[in-house]
Amino acid sequence: MDANGRLLNYIDGAWRQSGAAEYLTVVNPATVEPLGRVPLSPPTEVDQAAQAAAAALPGWRRTPPTERIQYLFKLKVLLEEHFEDLSRTITQESGKTLDEARGEVRRSIENVEVACGIPTLMQGYNSEDIAAGIDEFMIRQPVGVAAVIAPFNFPGMIPFWFMPYALACGNTYIVKPSERVPLTMQKVFRLLDELKLPPGVVNLVNGAKDTAEAILDHPAIQAISFVGSTAVAKYVYARAAGNGKRAQCGGGAKNPIIVLPDADLETATRISADSAFGCAGQRCLAASLAVTVGGAKKPFTEAMAEVAATRVVGYGLEPGVQMGPVISAESKGRVERLIAQGAREGAEILVDGRGARIKGCEQGYFVRPTLLHGLAPDSEVARTEIFGPVLGLMHVDTIDQAIELVNSARYGNMACVFTSSGAAARRFRYEAEVGNVGINVGIAAPMAFFPFSGWKESFFGDLHGQGLDAVEFFTQKKVVVERWPREWSRKF
Ligand code: NAD
Repeated sequence: MDANGRLLNYIDGAWRQSGAAEYLTVVNPATVEPLGRVPLSPPTEVDQAAQAAAAALPGWRRTPPTERIQYLFKLKVLLEEHFEDLSRTITQESGKTLDEARGEVRRSIENVEVACGIPTLMQGYNSEDIAAGIDEFMIRQPVGVAAVIAPFNFPGMIPFWFMPYALACGNTYIVKPSERVPLTMQKVFRLLDELKLPPGVVNLVNGAKDTAEAILDHPAIQAISFVGSTAVAKYVYARAAGNGKRAQCGGGAKNPIIVLPDADLETATRISADSAFGCAGQRCLAASLAVTVGGAKKPFTEAMAEVAATRVVGYGLEPGVQMGPVISAESKGRVERLIAQGAREGAEILVDGRGARIKGCEQGYFVRPTLLHGLAPDSEVARTEIFGPVLGLMHVDTIDQAIELVNSARYGNMACVFTSSGAAARRFRYEAEVGNVGINVGIAAPMAFFPFSGWKESFFGDLHGQGLDAVEFFTQKKVVVERWPREWSRKF
């Protein structure tokens, strides 16, 4: 950041002032304090980053994987050393609590750790003697220049679903953070700068839609990782593919939690509340519908009403706070309008989080936990991603109906079941048409060594972020067939 609070780009191994005609003010959503100004970088700056990354590619690719990962080991150490500072920055710009931000930095580091296994992870395979004296090999090579276009809700973690793997596999990289939360990546790039990577291996270009589109259209960029809302994910997937790039695009969600009558009520309630209201409901794995089956209805509804009404809401840096604000005034207005719409569509507002005013943060974008009871499955609110701390409660009589409800959704990011029946849990795991399943778990977030899955309108593409999927995405397979007849060696 310069003396005027303007954030910088990082291109070709150096911090650069953007020549952007427009800057947006980044605001702390709890205190409404301005945190900096982010440039909407023009296509010429995307071009500089892409050219730098393309120029760095041959040298980086030839750097042995065992040497490439030495930079990642150092990055892990630096991330650990700056753990608290990064966590505080995430809280300041995104609003989540400090503990939630710490969880996010931890998962970022875990992805670096997994990518350090690349010398093994990117091995190919071979078959000796596919015919006499002929062998066949599959070797993995980097794809080229890759880029991530990231959302606002995980300013640190989401670029780390991709970047460490891309670099470890020998690609060069460009990060475009969300224009709403660009500060965390400024700090991450200060650490990347300390690694003394060859110039151009990693680049940071700030901006919004137009900057992202310049990335999607740039001929030197071969692979796009996108995470954001479904409409944009679909558009980015099509535009990247139209330009001949490989793409993996995560979209929105509307995640249901099923509570069977034999569930442990205390666990189901506590975990569902964390899932629905943690990060103010702004996780792509947030529970936004709780479907009770049979006798679970009354006790679960009463217990949820109690936890929703008593959750401590405030500024995430303050101790004891369990939930922060949503990201913007616009988002608060939208969430409150959807709550009202839920009531118009026949739901009862059992706990009403609208009109929240938090002492000391009166201007902040707070919505308290909200319960919409008796939401009709075909209502618009039951099918719309709210992305706020609003849980819709529904009731059905059988597990068949619950699974049918899960599978009728347009999204398929996550579904969870609470039960003490192994058979019911297995059936749910088997039949739920979603990419991430929780069994007595409310936020089924895959560890770094598993793919962050997602089905239907929650994901466009075939290879996900994290783990082996990321290694597949950031490598292209070359198959070699070699003939070396034994008799040719007779001259020696
Ligand atoms: P968003 O779609 O508004 O923005 C995401 C990114 O796309 C930003 O960097 C933005 O600058 C850029 N962008 C916006 N419009 C664009 C366009 N027309 N062309 C190209 N780029 C464009 O999403 P958001 O509000 O920042 O993030 C919240 C959404 O992300 C929610 O829907 C949430 O469910 C989803 N999300 C999904 C996952 C997942 O794994 N599936 C994870 C986290 C968040």
